Amino acid sequence: MAMPPIVERTYSFRRGLGPRRATHGLTVHHSAGSVSVTADDIHVMHRNRLEGGSYWSGIGYHFVITPDGTITRGRPEWARGAHAGPGNDTHLGVCVVGTYTHHLPTERALRSLARLLAGLAEKYAWDLSHKVSVTPHSYHMSTACPGDALRAYLPTIRAMAKAIAAGQDPSFDDNPLPEVKPVLTVGARVPEVRELQQTLVELGIEVEVDGDFGPETKAAVQEFQGRSGLVRDGIVGPRTWEALDEALGRVHEEDGPVLPDDEDEQWAPDEGEDEQESISKRMRDLLVGLIEIADELEEERA
Ligand SMILES: [Zn+2]
Repeated sequence: MAMPPIVERTYSFRRGLGPRRATHGLTVHHSAGSVSVTADDIHVMHRNRLEGGSYWSGIGYHFVITPDGTITRGRPEWARGAHAGPGNDTHLGVCVVGTYTHHLPTERALRSLARLLAGLAEKYAWDLSHKVSVTPHSYHMSTACPGDALRAYLPTIRAMAKAIAAGQDPSFDDNPLPEVKPVLTVGARVPEVRELQQTLVELGIEVEVDGDFGPETKAAVQEFQGRSGLVRDGIVGPRTWEALDEALGRVHEEDGPVLPDDEDEQWAPDEGEDEQESISKRMRDLLVGLIEIADELEEERA
């Protein structure tokens, strides 16, 4: 299996690049932002990112995959990347443009990822039976990248790459994509409504578990959203599902009361996200959450 077509780029870096110690595999990232971002955009963003008093050299990834399946070259393949902390010494980095916390990239992007992995595995003699050949960013350090959905799908990508390397053309029918949670709002009667109601009850919010998304369920969702610093629209979309998962995880871990989001990790900007923008966005979310809590306390006192 030869390498898939790659759109070549020759970016200018602020400093000279050095080689990697070894090349054991490919590390997968998401860009955690707009799906229309390009490799050129990421290069500019990374070049202008200040860290510890100095600017980054330039794009930290070796490859960028856009939703149409195009693979674009980032920093040269021989060079040590800047994408995964300790993983920079052992892994090439690929960024799949988009946010894949609760849903997956396009089939084209996934197919390109599997082809890229197959090509690199042949070139560097990686054993595709071993999970080190394709790792999520979170394998090397504490991060939400590349999102739960894409992370969960990496073993399938590895299996598809193995099939491609063996000269087959694996289909998504044989490698089904994980199910995406539906957006729930008043009137919804899908099975996930019951799951939602059960979760709310576990989080200490009273609601009848009847599988019917009525005004009561909406109010319960709004209460949860208020607690979590989310917009209180009563609509359960990806951000609310994610916050519910996290809150439930904390309850199961600590078996204690549910507190508003206070994870330090949330304060670090996601890849591809402007730091200043990210901080003000999160400050805003936190403030909204605090105001809601203050309002609720006031209501209780009244
Ligand atoms: Zn990452």
